[in-house]
Amino acid sequence: MWKKLLFPGFLFFCSTVWGTEKFVSLRERMVQEQIIKRGVKNERVIEALLEVPRHKFVPPEYRELAYIDQPLPIGYNQTISQPYIVALMTELLNLKGEEKVLEIGTGSGYQAAVLAELAGEVYTIEILEPLARDAEKRLKDLGYQNIKVKSGDGFLGWEEFSPFDAIIVTCAPGEIPAKLLEQLKEGGRMVIPVGERFQELKLVIKEKGKVVIKDIIPVRFVPMIRKK
Ligand code: SAH
Repeated sequence: MWKKLLFPGFLFFCSTVWGTEKFVSLRERMVQEQIIKRGVKNERVIEALLEVPRHKFVPPEYRELAYIDQPLPIGYNQTISQPYIVALMTELLNLKGEEKVLEIGTGSGYQAAVLAELAGEVYTIEILEPLARDAEKRLKDLGYQNIKVKSGDGFLGWEEFSPFDAIIVTCAPGEIPAKLLEQLKEGGRMVIPVGERFQELKLVIKEKGKVVIKDIIPVRFVPMIRKK
């Protein structure tokens, strides 16, 4: 009897190990070809991208495509950002390990997981309730304990846990939301795509009471929507 169970068990074990290894090597290739070759240098960011299992953040039908150089659909007309953009935005935040970070636009939770590898605490807000719920479960199942997810309107920020050392916005508002600027700590950094159909990725730094804004590259994100 136990022999009968052992063989299918062995096959299942092999296919699981093989599946995991396949994704590890796809992930290594993604980091090499899409991230390092394009100029991302921060070792900690590179490590985080090698660590987070991106294929577990996309719907099953896109699993095999999880490591390609593109955004992918995650349902509700939303997308998980292209790996390079995740790496670039994360690098711009210059995280050292202890920071409190706010993300607007949880989506799949992938960017939040990358941030959680690099910072102390991550707070992430998603306007679409079912996406927020799925991301929260996914992140919990993957063992992340330093991420808080809430469904709500990112334009309001998250007053209760403010101010933040870093803020990352992964949907595009027409201009920088005032509340988010308010909730950014002195010396803090915000990375945000700003514009209507086409956007510019901006790095916003609060320095000595002033706000310094730098244009980084043109990007395309889904719009940041207002709660009705
Ligand atoms: N960071 C995500 C990808 C984000 S896609 C990931 O790693 O998968 C952008 C997300 O922003 C979408 O899920 C969209 O629903 C959300 N969004 C749009 N407007 C918002 C708002 N006002 N507040 C919070 N989230 C918003």
